Amino acid sequence: MSNLVSSDVGLLLELLNSAPIVDGVPTDALRGSGATGWLRERGIPGPPAAAREVRDAVAAVVRGEASAGSLQKYVRDVRQVVVVSADGVRWRLEGARFPARAVLAWAEVKDRLRPCENDAECRLFLIDRSKANARRWCSMSTCGNRLKARRHQARLHD
Ligand SMILES: [Zn+2]
Repeated sequence: MSNLVSSDVGLLLELLNSAPIVDGVPTDALRGSGATGWLRERGIPGPPAAAREVRDAVAAVVRGEASAGSLQKYVRDVRQVVVVSADGVRWRLEGARFPARAVLAWAEVKDRLRPCENDAECRLFLIDRSKANARRWCSMSTCGNRLKARRHQARLHD
């Protein structure tokens, strides 16, 4: 069963990636004057504080800092109902509004969603669609190369 619009997964990733570290400075698109516009552009309802809350809750689970059960409260209004028609029956989700949709999207991709390994400097998340599912960096061209260069330097100075 997948009642999820696949765009919810994209939206979840954008949400998770709304607080990156840029050039050593932590930023947050969901704080300050641009926050409401940021959410409106993406069709995410609600005050920025609510979006931040679910973002930080999912991020903590993905980072292994909180249990998945901590997300339960966001889906408590979600129900699955059966709809009977000439085609037979199908299941439909009800009550899956935004915070719930973010959690359902997390569930859809949780085995492929992880923090960039350059966590201290980046704080971005990635969804690895590759067969090997072994991607470690949000982007090879930035974080991947940066870390490789640093490890190389460290080896030279051993
Ligand atoms: Zn990164």
